[in-house]
Amino acid sequence: MSVKKVDVAVLGGGPGGYTAALYCARAGFSVTVIEKMAPGGQMATTGRVDNYPGFDEGVDGFELGERMQRGAERFGAETLFADVTGVELAGDTKRILTTDGELEARAVVLSTGASPRELGLPEERELRGRGVAYCATCDGMLYKDKTVVVAGGGNSAAADALHLAKLCKKVILVHRRDTLRASQVYLAPLRESGVEFVWNSRITGILHGAQVTGVRVEDVKTGAEREIPCDGLFVAVGRVPDTALFADQVKLEEHGYVDADETTRTDLPGVFAVGDLRSKPLRQIVTAASDGAVAAHFIEEYLLQQA
Ligand code: NAP
Repeated sequence: MSVKKVDVAVLGGGPGGYTAALYCARAGFSVTVIEKMAPGGQMATTGRVDNYPGFDEGVDGFELGERMQRGAERFGAETLFADVTGVELAGDTKRILTTDGELEARAVVLSTGASPRELGLPEERELRGRGVAYCATCDGMLYKDKTVVVAGGGNSAAADALHLAKLCKKVILVHRRDTLRASQVYLAPLRESGVEFVWNSRITGILHGAQVTGVRVEDVKTGAEREIPCDGLFVAVGRVPDTALFADQVKLEEHGYVDADETTRTDLPGVFAVGDLRSKPLRQIVTAASDGAVAAHFIEEYLLQQA
């Protein structure tokens, strides 16, 4: 099979990846974005995005992903829908193996994002799709008029609880502390939504037959345990960076994110990290897109030095 040669290979078609692709393609470089599912990454699973500027009435996350793809392709970037199975990032020529052939690139953008963190409960994996879910926008409709528990206290848990409150009979948010980490913007809507809160509690078990029937929670202060009947458990306890493909090649920081500063440069020349997998204080669509633009700037500088 022939090897495709490009200036820039982008691993992952989220907002960071497609912004890097747009800027690099517009600067005249050949670019291929390799995406395994759909353009947009995590954003594509978000029903409505209200905090990406320029969309005064909000925009559907999936649609925004497609628009970012088309925006980059307008300048010649290409998308390869395939799984990346291996990478060799050291050296001037980077090799990328995919389920649909091999690429050689002069520079690589790592933009594989992050996946939902699991609670780590017994049978959590087996019950995925049978009452355990990680994406309220994707699976919420399955729980219409039912009772669900949301685990977590960050922006994802808040957004999921609000989304589910519009669909479900009852939403119970279980958080291990007595305050949410979520942004202020969620607090008033949550109060008005009818979402019930179970504070200072951690989920210790999932009750089930063929489907989830409830969760067992422990009060972290008193140690008292009780059961909460529910039809579904939405886990929203953060994300884990998707770095398995290159963790042995690129320097990671202590929490497993790629160690790249505001230039998006990693410790490997010609390898850049953008979006949620990079060490950074705020993971948002707009900061991922910003990373993509910054990466393109330093990629251009790098490629011109190499030429
Ligand atoms: P996050 O901000 O890291 O919050 C994770 C939450 O889960 C925290 O409240 C944490 O509790 C809790 N948690 C972690 N591990 C747990 C465990 N094992 N058991 C029980 N609870 C656990 O994660 P996120 O909410 O998924 O957000 C990820 C990133 O995406 C953030 O940067 C966020 O801002 C961004 N995001 C933004 C939006 C938005 O702006 N609209 C929406 C969604 C996501 P503690 O508080 O006790 O640590």
